[in-house]
Amino acid sequence: MNKKLLLKVYNVEEFNSNGHLLIDQLTSHLEDKLNAYSKNAINWNEPEHELKFWKDFLKNGSKKDLFKEITKHTTYTHHPHYLGHQVSPPAPITALTGLISSLLNNGTAVYEMGMASNAIERIIIELVCNKIGFKESSSGFLTSGGTLANLTALLSARKAITKKDIWNEGNQNQLGIMVSEEAHYCVDRAARIMGLGNQGIIKVPVTREFQMDTSLLESKFEEAKAKGIEVFAIIGSAPSTATGIFDDLETIGGFAEKQKIWFHVDGAHGGAGIFSKKYRHTLNGIDKADSVVIDGHKMMMMPALTTALLFKNEINSKATFSQKADYLLSDSEHEDWYNSGKRTFECTKNMMSIHWFTLLKLYGEEVFDANVTQLYDMGAIFANLIAEEPNFEVALQPMSNIVCFRFIEPGMSTEYLNELNIKIRQALLEDGEFYIVQTKLKGVHYMRITVMNPFTTLQHFKALIEKIKLIKTSI
Ligand SMILES: *Cc1c(COP(=O)(O)O)cnc(C)c1O
Repeated sequence: MNKKLLLKVYNVEEFNSNGHLLIDQLTSHLEDKLNAYSKNAINWNEPEHELKFWKDFLKNGSKKDLFKEITKHTTYTHHPHYLGHQVSPPAPITALTGLISSLLNNGTAVYEMGMASNAIERIIIELVCNKIGFKESSSGFLTSGGTLANLTALLSARKAITKKDIWNEGNQNQLGIMVSEEAHYCVDRAARIMGLGNQGIIKVPVTREFQMDTSLLESKFEEAKAKGIEVFAIIGSAPSTATGIFDDLETIGGFAEKQKIWFHVDGAHGGAGIFSKKYRHTLNGIDKADSVVIDGHKMMMMPALTTALLFKNEINSKATFSQKADYLLSDSEHEDWYNSGKRTFECTKNMMSIHWFTLLKLYGEEVFDANVTQLYDMGAIFANLIAEEPNFEVALQPMSNIVCFRFIEPGMSTEYLNELNIKIRQALLEDGEFYIVQTKLKGVHYMRITVMNPFTTLQHFKALIEKIKLIKTSI
């Protein structure tokens, strides 16, 4: 055994000096990016070049440059020109709670391996349930990401609603869920994992405003029933990822209640709006849900992954992975809140609750209101700016911090404009001063921003538009 090597790995002084150096380095990174002292939000590199760089680095790179190089070769979420995917620029304090979680490595699945994280998780869950408008009989847990949380919620729905005990006896008849055609792809994936297949994923078309068309719910449901499909759940998006448009949760909730099926709200992105006084209305009807997903790592300034999955009825949160039907759970199993692993898909999990708790303790609940409200406000401001530009248009009036827009030229075909917008977006990526993404809505290609950084301003937006105009002249 190479004990000397292991002693070096666990050398405490080395941890201390590396740690101080890293904190200094990340502090300069934050100063540099938050204030936009450095120009770029990303230093784009082709995948093959990036691979070669790291192969070379493993052989020849200097150890002391390791953390610096990793940092440099990333997309800078703290830069105000970062307008891309929906991950937060984490509040710096939550990088420190991430450090605690990594170093202490308490598995959290059982109480004995996560006393603080389990107790704290319960406090967080109670707070979030309360904000949703759930009663005391509600419950939930934290889990690793919206994708896993959506799958877990659908498994709970199946357990609670279907006539047959599928968990124990396997799939017996064709089951189905109803979901907007614009829902996040992970819902489709969850349904396929559950064996529902194409025929079990009943896609409800969207209106011109890209909301689930609720006027079609009854007919879609009856159609499925006539085909022998047992529909057990309907999913509302809050909002849908591509467009940032919220489904009408109130109406969907009413429909689910009438048909006695499960109502799940995928609020991975916008569920955090429960904290915003100004935008709470986007979630009207959320309290009708049987289950709700909210990502901490999107609109709540936390590092990935940490997702709250909340249940209106505590029993359903506990029955999902139990061999027994919910009504057979003993009282002690019902009360067993402190062993969260019994209710989550994952076994070992991060001490993710400490991010939520630390933000609450240090800054109070209003910090979530401040962030969501600021980011959604900026979505509207960007759309207003686009409206003033003759060669630009938005796809939809935004309801959140997600805005789809494109460059247009009068008289040109959709194909031509699609190509043009793809080229502009690619040029932006390679240039790196701004980082934005793209999406296709009903065959039309759009550039897409998500304002994730609370320090992105009108001036930054104007600079982006000027940059796009400049790129256009060179295409
Ligand atoms: C981001 C997102 C997801 C996926 O969540 P992850 O945490 O990335 O797994 C699911 N649904 C919606 C609406 C989302 O925006």
